[in-house]
Amino acid sequence: MRILIVGAGVAGHTLAHWLRRSGHEPTLVERAPQPRRGGYLIDFWGAGYRVAERMGIVPRLEELGCRLEEMRDVSKAGRTIARFDPRRAVDSVEGRYISIARSDLARAIFESLGDGVETIFGDSVRSLEDDGGRVHVDFAHGGAREFDLVIGADGAHSLTRRLVFGADEQFERFLGITVAAFDVTGYRPREENIVVTHAEVGMQALRLATREDATMFLFTFRSDEQLPHDDARAQQEMLRRRMHGVGWEVPEMISRMKETRTFYMDRVSQVRMPTWSRGRVALIGDAAAAPSLLAGQGSALAMIEAYTLATELDRAEGDHLAAFAGYEKRLADFVRSKQDAALRLSMVFAPRGRFQLVRRNALMKLMGLPFVLDLALNRSLRDRIRLPDGPPRTG
Ligand SMILES: Cc1cc2nc3c(=O)[nH]c(=O)nc-3n(C[C@H](O)[C@H](O)[C@H](O)COP(=O)(O)OP(=O)(O)OC[C@H]3O[C@@H](n4cnc5c(N)ncnc54)[C@H](O)[C@@H]3O)c2cc1C
Repeated sequence: MRILIVGAGVAGHTLAHWLRRSGHEPTLVERAPQPRRGGYLIDFWGAGYRVAERMGIVPRLEELGCRLEEMRDVSKAGRTIARFDPRRAVDSVEGRYISIARSDLARAIFESLGDGVETIFGDSVRSLEDDGGRVHVDFAHGGAREFDLVIGADGAHSLTRRLVFGADEQFERFLGITVAAFDVTGYRPREENIVVTHAEVGMQALRLATREDATMFLFTFRSDEQLPHDDARAQQEMLRRRMHGVGWEVPEMISRMKETRTFYMDRVSQVRMPTWSRGRVALIGDAAAAPSLLAGQGSALAMIEAYTLATELDRAEGDHLAAFAGYEKRLADFVRSKQDAALRLSMVFAPRGRFQLVRRNALMKLMGLPFVLDLALNRSLRDRIRLPDGPPRTG
């Protein structure tokens, strides 16, 4: 089948990989003018990691990623409150855990596609019309074309979802937290492979030294303020205001913000939909079921969804309705349980009041005890899902 995938992120690339492998003809359309670089570091583990193994990209992920050696939580004055060794997490999932920039994960998957997948950068869909037998797609720049199926992999604010299922408000659940991330070079102190966090009422700041003398900062904070869309300067001003008076290294971090090459800010939301497909159009990744950054597993879930959809399409031998139903049946409960679990972590990223802050810090201290850490890791890192066998290689 000729299948259009809207969005060349982790979900879109993974789907293209598996569709191509099973003899379909995927086309990727990405609104960015070229593959994205940089961005925030993500933790990657679980069943998503097993999908990466089946794709043969783990050696590349190991080249591009890193293994964190310490997580440390500090007070306003920078004194250590709690510390633990995340390498225990690696042991508890038999080495299947890596930290990697989101764009590097997408890049490793993109490289695995070789030359066989048509990829259109700097374009998007303008309209989609499903006549029951085909989907007629009008591109913003590239004219009109027809596809057998269209898959929306265009992230939490998916245009495909809006065009086919309606307004975002029906599906987006704002969690009351805003996230901002940026990186600078030459920041000191520089502690390789160590994540340092500091929380106060309503916020958390995080720093992590990454490659080429860069340091990434991530801020999560409670805010009712409307996010100024597509206006980085106004967003930076909002972050500056919100971080005013916060302790630790936060004033220095904020003063370096003007040098950043990358700035990201968004509302922390989940996407919950009653169904992931309509007719010949389906959704995967954040577009279908964003669990939010609180889950720390959105990329892995995006890969599991892409892999499962490709497998179901292969099994259904052309019956896309059966494939879409099978994909949703296999994954909907699992993904929902991940979303529910993530909600319980909002206290860590932005404690609501004094009492939650004290509880959060106590929890961090407990994580320093090896048996508590093992217990927590065992509960949260093991994905209780059996992956279907992948499509045989025919492409
Ligand atoms: C700060 C932060 C930290 C996170 N930490 C983790 C973590 O530790 N572990 C983890 O697993 N996950 C983490 N996540 C979540 C993870 O990044 C997402 O769940 C994952 O990237 C979803 O992949 P996706 O391919 O569905 O969407 P995206 O990565 O959002 O990709 C969508 C792609 O579609 C493109 N696009 C958008 N609109 C259009 C359009 N109209 N036309 C064409 N193209 C379009 C975009 O440019 C993009 O390339 C984090 C998220 C954030 C924000």
